[in-house]
Amino acid sequence: MELLKQRILEEGVVVSDQVLKLDGLLNHQVDPMLTMEMGREFARRFAEAGVTRVVTVESSGIAVAFATAYEMKVPLVFARRKKTLLADPDALCERVPSFTKGIVTDIMLSRQFISEDDKILFIDDIIANGDAARGLIKIIQRSGAELVGLGIVVEKSFQAGARTIREQGIRLESLVDITSLNDGTIVFG
Ligand code: 5GP
Repeated sequence: MELLKQRILEEGVVVSDQVLKLDGLLNHQVDPMLTMEMGREFARRFAEAGVTRVVTVESSGIAVAFATAYEMKVPLVFARRKKTLLADPDALCERVPSFTKGIVTDIMLSRQFISEDDKILFIDDIIANGDAARGLIKIIQRSGAELVGLGIVVEKSFQAGARTIREQGIRLESLVDITSLNDGTIVFG
């Protein structure tokens, strides 16, 4: 997506060889017009998949997942990062390491909002090692729903996440592929 590449070049801040700060358009501030464009693009790519629900993880994926769900005219469900120790018999939970925070968090999705009749499109902001995505994929699989694919705004293909998910036979579409952040330079694939 050329428009997105342009905005990443203008507003992205290379923090290290591994991390690109995208606070200006994804992780702190959101541009509604650009975000709706992203949603339209995901909706176009998965138009034939029969999606019944869009799923993401709070919080940075929510805006683009909303835009996608709006275009597809289906509900958006966001997995919550769990802060309570109260056991909920109705919840599907997974523990995932956080790439940027260096901690583990529990993500939770209520069985009320996902069923074995669903065809799920999973939308997220950035994929690095793929831990967050793998956690949510496990939850979707345990729910009995069908995962039709992943739509990721920024794939950092020099990290293993996207590749290992594709190797599992899961369709993963990204809007922008970053192949390197070495020496402070953003290189697109
Ligand atoms: P993963 O679980 O794939 O290693 O990391 C995924 C999550 O970590 C993303 O949803 C995103 O919030 C955060 N993340 C990973 N890499 C980056 C990065 O380079 N920049 C920012 N801003 N967030 C990142």
